[in-house]
Amino acid sequence: MLKLTDDQLRSLGRHKLPVDSVLDARGMRTSDWKIELKRQNKSLALVDSPCQKGHAARLRLSSGHCVECSPQGVAHWKRHQVPGFVYVAVSRKLRLVKIGIAQLASERADALIKDEYGGADDWQLIYRRKFDKAGWVEAKAQTSLAEYSSPRTYTRKHHGKSVTARELFSCDYSKAIGSVESLCEHALGDAWEPADLARIVARLEAP
Ligand SMILES: [Zn+2]
Repeated sequence: MLKLTDDQLRSLGRHKLPVDSVLDARGMRTSDWKIELKRQNKSLALVDSPCQKGHAARLRLSSGHCVECSPQGVAHWKRHQVPGFVYVAVSRKLRLVKIGIAQLASERADALIKDEYGGADDWQLIYRRKFDKAGWVEAKAQTSLAEYSSPRTYTRKHHGKSVTARELFSCDYSKAIGSVESLCEHALGDAWEPADLARIVARLEAP
């Protein structure tokens, strides 16, 4: 177990972070511990030197910022640790796949269609599974598909605002599902797929 000073324990208490979410990054290069922090899904790195403002706890966020200087960065990590549903949706019109998260099983496909997410109104859910750390699973799956990333700028229905959809990928639907399923050790239940998946996929692949 990592031995922490009173300063460090107080800092963790203030931010409501568990001691075992701290990575011992002393002696490591910044570029190395940033990778390791993400790989191990830790919240903070304990580094060798205090920040420029001299905070003695020496605890850094994955952004590299000191947690005392940028406490808002903790919220991002916490959001990633909460259980929820990770889903995969497809649009035949765009020929793109979306990976996202939802708090409720029922929530997402209707919302995608209503907002015309990415500029399409034909979103169909083809996969959904509950995970213990939904945001982290989503981010990890999206990172593994980075080479297929296909962001689209579109006008959000009923809001009239131009936004960029970044969770879109130009890859086979099974590849997208595979990227999520590769993290199934974190799943809290079975995967769901629609009864008519074969028909959806056949339409998707038709010219
Ligand atoms: Zn600081």
